[in-house]
Amino acid sequence: MTTWQVATVVGAVRETDTARSIWLHIPGFPGARAGQHIDIKLTAPDGYSTSRSYSLSDVREGDTVAVGVEELDDGEVSPFLVHDLEIGEQVEIAGPIGMQFVWPPLDTGADKDIGAGAHTDSSRPVQLVAGGSGITPLMAMIRLRETTRPEATMRLLYSARSPEQVFFRDEFAALAAADRLRVDWFFTRTAGSGPRPAGRITREEFAAAILPVASRPLLYLCGSTEYVDTLGEWLLDAGYPIDDIRIERFLAA
Ligand SMILES: Cc1cc2nc3c(=O)[nH]c(=O)nc-3n(C[C@H](O)[C@H](O)[C@H](O)COP(=O)(O)OP(=O)(O)OC[C@H]3O[C@@H](n4cnc5c(N)ncnc54)[C@H](O)[C@@H]3O)c2cc1C
Repeated sequence: MTTWQVATVVGAVRETDTARSIWLHIPGFPGARAGQHIDIKLTAPDGYSTSRSYSLSDVREGDTVAVGVEELDDGEVSPFLVHDLEIGEQVEIAGPIGMQFVWPPLDTGADKDIGAGAHTDSSRPVQLVAGGSGITPLMAMIRLRETTRPEATMRLLYSARSPEQVFFRDEFAALAAADRLRVDWFFTRTAGSGPRPAGRITREEFAAAILPVASRPLLYLCGSTEYVDTLGEWLLDAGYPIDDIRIERFLAA
C-alpha cells in the first residue's frame, strides 16, 4: 500500500510560460537519489483525489526537494501545479521511487573484480539526453555532481521546442560560463541562435553530439516515450551496450 506524506510548498519559480519548478519540504523524508521521482497527490474539497509522477530536479537538501512541471493544455493535474498551487499550500507525496535511473549509478557488478564494494560505474563518463521536461531528473544529476563529484565527466544533449521552452536557462548559462557543462542544443520548432534550422534531431546529429562508444559512457535518456525509444534504438544500432543505457519515459500516468 502506498504511504502518503504531507509536503509543503516552500518555493516556486517559473521556468517557461508553461512550466515551473516547485520546492517541497517533506518532514522526515529520507532523501532521494538523483534520477528518482515522487508521486504527487491532490485532493479536492469534495474528497476526489488523483496523483501523478514527477521526477525530482533537486535532491541536494534531503527533506526539501524540487520538481519541474510542464503544463499539458488538457491535463488534469499539471495546469494546477503550474498555475494555481501556492507557496504554503500542502500536497501529499509518495516516494522516492525508482532505483534504475539513478546517478551515481548502483554498482552493476560488471567491474566487481576491482575490489569489494567498488562502484566502478560511478567513475564512468556520463551522457545525459533530455527531451522537453525530461530535463528534470537529469538536472538533479547535474546539480548533485556540482556539489558532490565535481570531477565526474558529464555532458548534456537537450532537445526542446524552442529556446523559450528551455528549463533552468540561467543555471545552464552559469555552468557554461564556468566551463562546467557542455550542452548540445536541438530545437524542434523555433531555431536557436546558431546556424542549425529548427527540426527534430537526426541520427547523424545525435551520433556526432554524444560521447563516443569508445569512451564507455553511461547514458541517461529522459523524455516522451517516442523520443527516448527512437534515440535508444539509435544507440543500440551504434553499438552502445544495452546495460549502459538507462531510460525514463514520461508516460501519462
Ligand atoms: C516516472 C515519471 C516521471 C515524470 N516526471 C515528470 C516531470 O518531471 N515533469 C513533468 O512535467 N511531467 C512528468 N511526468 C508526467 C506526469 O506524470 C503527468 O503525466 C503529466 O504532468 C500530465 O498530467 P496531467 O494530469 O496534467 O494530464 P492528464 O490528465 O493525465 O492527461 C495526460 C495526457 O493524456 C491525455 N489523456 C488523458 N486521459 C485520457 C484518456 N482517457 N484517453 C486518452 N488520452 C487521455 C490528455 O489529453 C493529456 O494529453 C512524469 C511521468 C512519469 C511516469
